[in-house]
Parts: sequence; structure tokens; C-alpha cells
Amino acid sequence: MSELSNSSPRPRVLSGMRPTGKLHLGNYMGALANWVKLQDKYDCYFFIADWHALTTDYADTSQLALNSMEVLLDYLAAGLDPGKCVLFLQSRVLQHAELALLLGMTTPLGWLERVPSYKEMIENLTNRDLTTYGFLGYPVLMAADILIYKADCVPVGEDQVAHVELTREIARRFNGFYAKQKDLLPEPQALLTRAPKLPGTDGRKMSKSYGNTIMLTDPEPMVRQKLKTMVTDPARVRRSDAGNPDVCPVGDLHKIFSSSETMTKVNVGCRSASIGCIECKG
Ligand code: SF4
Repeated sequence: MSELSNSSPRPRVLSGMRPTGKLHLGNYMGALANWVKLQDKYDCYFFIADWHALTTDYADTSQLALNSMEVLLDYLAAGLDPGKCVLFLQSRVLQHAELALLLGMTTPLGWLERVPSYKEMIENLTNRDLTTYGFLGYPVLMAADILIYKADCVPVGEDQVAHVELTREIARRFNGFYAKQKDLLPEPQALLTRAPKLPGTDGRKMSKSYGNTIMLTDPEPMVRQKLKTMVTDPARVRRSDAGNPDVCPVGDLHKIFSSSETMTKVNVGCRSASIGCIECKG
């Protein structure tokens, strides 16, 4: 396995997304928008994690190539610039699999079984059999993705910090066996990303599995149509009832995307019932 050295003076960042189809606003606000900023400050590697998609969606791979292309297009459309960062498809870099295999030799089974999302996903994704070696081992593949590039930082939300910690433990154990003097595999740091709350059209977290998404590629009429059906403050039953944008998913979207002028109009209009929800959604 040849080494990739970091000759850039800038810290190196690595992150990726599983290609399960086109990306939605939640993906954008939760990660992609931050990546676009990072590419100006860091030595960035962003990838399409097609092998990770196989850990849960191995039974039907017919859409994988198309989905990978869709994600790449969304990366580019969102502003990731191949002149500023490296964009790649995981499965085209075979060394990811090679390092994952080697890391698998030293990673204790108990570490993988204790990963919180492991049991949670097995319980939630009941429509498929996830009792596979590949699914149990996905944190090892993830560690390989990061360590192979000797990444200094991994941008993550709070719920993924544990994954970076596990990567650090996997690297430490590997170094303990094989690194003579300096660390063979540097331990990465989590670069915490605080993403704003972005509800889906039903008020729950925006997620493809809930069917409540607004896709980055949705044309404007479709976005408007989806917003029309969006749930609002449940206490505002009639047009004459006053509402509260702080407990309304539409209010949450305004806080992220609207100008301060519009936000003032929403705040005043909603609380005094001088605007209706249809107008507010418009
Ligand atoms: S007016 Fe706007 S913020 Fe207020 S309840 Fe209706 S949609 Fe929500």
C-alpha cells in the first residue's frame, strides 16, 4: 500500500455521502453548504460513498451508478469546485477496501457491536437483513476512508462524533501494533458542524425515509406545491387564530432562508393573525 503524503500547508478534510439518490435541503444545510465553505480553507477530499451504500442496499444495486451520478451533480451544483477540492467515487480507489481489510484484522468485534447506530438501524430498517459482515464492519470502512488520506479533520454533526472517536481508536490500535516511531495513521479530529434545524414538510427531520423532503433539484412550482402541504403551528386552527413561528416548521424554514425583513413580517403577522399560513408559505 503506497502512502499519500500531505504536502499541502492546509489541514486536510475528508467527508462523503452515501449515494441513495438526489440530495435534499437537509443534506445541503446539514453538510454540503459547510463543505462549500471548507474548500476555501482546507485541503478537501469529498467522495461519493458507493461502497457504504452497499452495506444496507446490497440486494438491489440497479440504481447505484445513477444515484452516484446524481450526488456528483448535486455536489457540483451546490458549489463544490473541482479546482478547489478533490471529488471522487469511493469504489474507484481500491485502496479503501485494502486498508479496510487490514484495519479489520485488528479491530475488536465488541467495538463494532457497541456502535449505537448499529442496533438502531437493525431495529428500524426491518425491510432488509442487516445481520451481515459488511454492515457490522461499516465503521471499519469509514475509518479506512478517513485514515487513508491522513485527514486532519472530519466535518460531522454532533450525532456522528462517536464515529470519528471510533476511527481514532481503530488508528491507535493499528499504530500500537505496527508503527515503530511516529504514527503510521494519524488520528483525525472531529470538526463539529452546527447545522440549523431543518424540518421536512411533515414537521419531522427532513429525511428520504419519511418522504418529507424538498430536493435540491425540485423545480420552483414543485417546491411551492410541497410547501403548501407543509404542517404549521398546530394551535393555529382558524385563519383568525394567532400563531407562533417558533413552534411552526414553516417558521423554522423562514429563520434559515428568509431576509430579516420577511422574518419580521412573519413574526408580527403570525402572532397577530394579520397574515394567513398560505401567504406565509408563499
Ligand atoms: S403564519 Fe407562518 S409561521 Fe405562523 S403558523 Fe402559519 S405558516 Fe407557521
